[in-house]
Amino acid sequence: MKVKEEMDSLVKKDTDHLWHAMHRHVENQPTMVAESGEGSWFTDVNGNRYLDGVSGLWCLNLGHGRQEIIDAASEQMKQLSYFPLTLSHMPAINLSAKISQLLGGSYKTFFSNSGSEANEAAFKIARQYHDQNGNPGKYKFISRYRAYHGTTLGALSATAQANRRMKYDPGVPGFLHTPPPYSYRSLFDEDAEKSDLIAAEMIDQMITWEGAESVAGVIMEPFISGGGVIIPSKAYLKRVSEICKKHDVLLIMDEVVSGFGRTGKMFGFMHTEGVEPDIVTMAKGLTSGYLPLGATAVKSDIYEKFKEAGDHNHFRHVSTYGGHPASCAVALKNIEIIERENLVNRVDELGETILGQLKELIEHENVGEVRSVGFLYGIEMVEDKQTKKPASDQLIGSIIGKCKENGLIIGRNGDTVPGYNNVLIIAPPLSSTEDDLEFVVNTVKSAFYDLKAYVKIEKTS
Ligand code: PMP
Repeated sequence: MKVKEEMDSLVKKDTDHLWHAMHRHVENQPTMVAESGEGSWFTDVNGNRYLDGVSGLWCLNLGHGRQEIIDAASEQMKQLSYFPLTLSHMPAINLSAKISQLLGGSYKTFFSNSGSEANEAAFKIARQYHDQNGNPGKYKFISRYRAYHGTTLGALSATAQANRRMKYDPGVPGFLHTPPPYSYRSLFDEDAEKSDLIAAEMIDQMITWEGAESVAGVIMEPFISGGGVIIPSKAYLKRVSEICKKHDVLLIMDEVVSGFGRTGKMFGFMHTEGVEPDIVTMAKGLTSGYLPLGATAVKSDIYEKFKEAGDHNHFRHVSTYGGHPASCAVALKNIEIIERENLVNRVDELGETILGQLKELIEHENVGEVRSVGFLYGIEMVEDKQTKKPASDQLIGSIIGKCKENGLIIGRNGDTVPGYNNVLIIAPPLSSTEDDLEFVVNTVKSAFYDLKAYVKIEKTS
């Protein structure tokens, strides 16, 4: 814990020099400066302890301070501090083989540094693949409204959240968007599964009307995460996969959030039998956030088209730090721990049993829907259950504020359009203890049941 003068100087330096991600000019909101972390908890410079109920940015899957991961990074740095993947090194070789094994098929993996870059690589690979497979006109990509796929211009063009894009549009040409399988607010059908299937058929129509010979790929998360935790019925992904096959369109699964156990399977698409994505992108949980790493795993038969096209037609894409030896060593250790501690099954089980108690919040007058898979929970907040009018910022802020006051950080969905950032998001580290998870449930529940009193206090203070 820092003394007051030290703290004041730190806050001033932060205010003067550090441009925060997603910075909002909110007055009277002191920046939270973290100092240390242990397991699912971190401590700020004022000595306050918080449980990180969103795993940083959904990445700190194994929690803070895993000595084995720290050792893996430092040993690798000592042995070989850097080496480019224009050539090769052992951690990248072993990690690419491990990824293939986890995906249950034959995949070639291209490494980068982040989820955005992993998706950028996927788009370029898809376009070049079609070109080299005799279909040079296939360049368009389809994604769903509310989806987030990254922050760089290509990935942002696939992102269909109006507020995030407005100031930076026009994006990259050729990115199209269709409605998500969002049965809670669907106009298609009262029945969730039927409604989701209509959302899938809209992808079929879009490809048909755009001309299948112009469409390269469909990119989607198996469960929209940052866009509001949207969980489709099982039939949806299966149907999308059939539609992609029918039109020779590549299915790109963005597993940046859902990969490595978050949803109670190693990868989110594995909840749906018979789905074999052509490209799988990963980051976040790949290293549990200990070091940056992105990965684009591509079906080997797609890679073959690069080989067949000859040397001149190689994939002209390079990242200085992509697949850094230390990051790959960390990823290998991270995966070893996930497997050894049987975390994927644990998430599946405790996501239903302990975190499952959050579903009781549906009784609350301001909760429209509680959606979940594994350790990923979304609580859609409304003013009124009948009209489904999204809850006000004040109401949502009250819950988040109350949780924080009681030592729990929770999140809310990103910049979709004004008024629709009304889904609270809870995604604690996968290694959270049972006590940690009980704490999450109890703190969130009590924030809801104190809500009326709390809002009144806020108004009168
Ligand atoms: N895809 C999804 C689904 C994401 O949630 C994110 C990041 N939140 C990204 C891609 C981009 O990852 P990064 O921030 O590492 O570029």
